[in-house]
Amino acid sequence: MNSAELDDLEDWVGRDPAGRAARAAEIERETGDDVVRMRARLIRADVAERNGELRAAAEAMWLINEWAHAHGNRYLIARSHLLLGRTYRNLGDVAALLEHAVAAVEALEETVAPRRRLPYVVKYADALTETGSIDAARERYRQAEELARHSEDPRDRIMVLNNHAYAEHLAGEPGRAWAVVRRMRATAIAHGYRLDPNDLDTVASVQIALGHYEDAEQTVLAAITGYPDAPLEADALPEFLLTLAITRRLLGDPGNAQQTLDLCREQCEAHGHGEILVRVMQEQAELYAATGAFRQAFTEHKRFHAAEKEVLSAAREAQARNRQALFEVNEARQEAERFREQARRDPLTGLRNRRHVDETLPALIDNATRTGVPLWAALLDLDHFKQINDLCTHEAGDRVLVEVARLLVASEPAGGFVARLGGEEFLLVVTGLDQSGTAAFLERVRATIAGHTWREMAGDLPVTVSIGAGPAMPGDEQADLLARADARLYEAKRAGRNRVSAGGALCR
Ligand code: GH3
Ligand code: MG
Ligand code: MG
Repeated sequence: MNSAELDDLEDWVGRDPAGRAARAAEIERETGDDVVRMRARLIRADVAERNGELRAAAEAMWLINEWAHAHGNRYLIARSHLLLGRTYRNLGDVAALLEHAVAAVEALEETVAPRRRLPYVVKYADALTETGSIDAARERYRQAEELARHSEDPRDRIMVLNNHAYAEHLAGEPGRAWAVVRRMRATAIAHGYRLDPNDLDTVASVQIALGHYEDAEQTVLAAITGYPDAPLEADALPEFLLTLAITRRLLGDPGNAQQTLDLCREQCEAHGHGEILVRVMQEQAELYAATGAFRQAFTEHKRFHAAEKEVLSAAREAQARNRQALFEVNEARQEAERFREQARRDPLTGLRNRRHVDETLPALIDNATRTGVPLWAALLDLDHFKQINDLCTHEAGDRVLVEVARLLVASEPAGGFVARLGGEEFLLVVTGLDQSGTAAFLERVRATIAGHTWREMAGDLPVTVSIGAGPAMPGDEQADLLARADARLYEAKRAGRNRVSAGGALCR
């Protein structure tokens, strides 16, 4: 497996989805690279969604989206949003489609090559079209055209123009659509490239809208001729045949129209394209009427209406089921997120806990030693805390801990965070300050606690802390850094408590 193959698998929307999923599954099993594994998994989710397995697909897409956020992988953030957008759109939720399309575009770094950014901008424009904002969509198609200029493949520019033309058509602007179609054709001719059936389908739709039926007939015929080699979904051929039949009826050629419609019906029955079959009935009724066979037209029309009702209610039921499934996926996701967050907080003080430290500190150390931005770990331990428990109450001790936590959060350690490691021991992570800055900051923390009014909780007992701090050094593991700070804490305690000891390693 190489990354070009993965790119191809991602872009592939042709036939044989099972083959695509199988290859992705193989890559997923065999790779040792997490990013590759996630990309392959997303390809499988893409296929599953196209297969109508919405719940499993959406679950996988969200999971990969979260993984990508946790690992800062912006490409996978973008791609998972792109696919989530389509999933929600297929449920009729165009608002969610737009949200995901925006998130996808935003996640892509400026440094991503224009060619790889192109589909995201186009999908964003398509989403704007579907939500009825054709003006905003036009601006995005224009940007996409600009990006396509960077590509050596003329098909990129043709793809943008095709989507733009179809958008104008959907927006009820056949005149504008035609202007874009002409640019698309000119681009193809200039590069000696033949429009593929997908592009031709757009051209035919616009020609029919403009009443240019003869041209439309030629266009659809060209699309059907090109079908066997084109990367199209399986229902493209019957769709083309239906368009051709309609065009021929409009041209006043009922004989050929009927033949074409029969061919289309056969295709639908052989390959189970139920929804198209319903539209075949509708067209059959129109065709009977066009030849004066009104009785048959009437009968066919009734059949069409009955079938349409059935298809519609089945579709509504499926949609309701799918919406419910996605709702449950969402709920489960939020629940898991709440649980994750809770598991990383200390219940008494609400501070981050040891688990959070273990998960985040190594990366902070790494980053600090790489960039040279200083990072300090300060361990803070309450002095003679046992006395407060013993002489007041354990509950009073708890309240002191909560209040210390509040003061630590209020001290706002520059760029770092505060955690409770356990018992009466806290960790302050400080970044961006040198040794004297760190020592001064920690001294302020110490003085704030020592000067606070504790009478209400601790009576006459003093509440003070000892703090030991050490800097992150190149090659440090988390344990090395914490041991350095701990040695300093021991030093502060030994020297009499209620003091700060900050500096490099100590020889004991
Ligand atoms: P030193 O100055 O040497 O740190 O003395 P110390 O008394 O603070 O040290 P020691 O480690 O002997 O005692 C810590 C005490 O903290 C013991 C334990 O009962 C108490 N403690 C640990 N966790 C909690 C807690 O969640 N709530 C309360 N109230 N007490 C706790
Ligand atoms: Mg203590
Ligand atoms: Mg202690």
